[in-house]
Amino acid sequence: MENSKPAQVNEFPKLFVLRWGHRPQRDVRLTTHVALTARALCASGFILSDVVDSHIEETVAKITKAWGGDFHFEMGTPWKHAVKDWKLNDGIIVHLTVYGENIQTSNVIDKIKAKNKNVMLLVGSQKVPGEFYSDEVSDFNVAVGNQPHSECSALAIFLDRFFKGKELEISFKNAKIAVEPTDRGKKIKTYVDLS
Ligand code: SAM
Repeated sequence: MENSKPAQVNEFPKLFVLRWGHRPQRDVRLTTHVALTARALCASGFILSDVVDSHIEETVAKITKAWGGDFHFEMGTPWKHAVKDWKLNDGIIVHLTVYGENIQTSNVIDKIKAKNKNVMLLVGSQKVPGEFYSDEVSDFNVAVGNQPHSECSALAIFLDRFFKGKELEISFKNAKIAVEPTDRGKKIKTYVDLS
């Protein structure tokens, strides 16, 4: 069968998600879901910019410990520093915004892939700084349809288009538990912890 060997996470291009505008009082659940979506759909890392929120760090660490992978998590980094560092390391910046080039009706994904560079994805929450739209920050502004919805859904669809669905079949290294897919009920494989 073609492509029968599942892809491994480390075969994917490096892609980080930067979550801007997190409000600790009201966004804990949604920001946690953005981080877990990034991890599950094979982003390599997540930056919670400008703020520190230990609830999110703890949940992401707990999930990664049990379900595996080398997911990078950092928080508190000013977004301008994160973007500058990424560019200095020859990466490109992609801003997910309702106003951007439509992922379905334009060739923006092909243009991003043609750069063949590491990608940092910027996702907002509340209204993002105007600079995000400028070419000084973002190499591409991408819309997942031109209707407003959610950072979580925009991220998931972008990653699925970018990784062409391969992200849904990968196995995570060093997992302590993994699902055994079944048409009924729940099956979990538990691995011996050798650490
Ligand atoms: N009113 C906000 C604004 O003007 O930016 C919209 C905030 S929206 C709830 C939060 C984030 O979800 C946005 O910053 C963007 O990253 C993402 N988002 C929402 N709809 C999107 C779409 N259709 N395409 C791409 N990203 C989207």
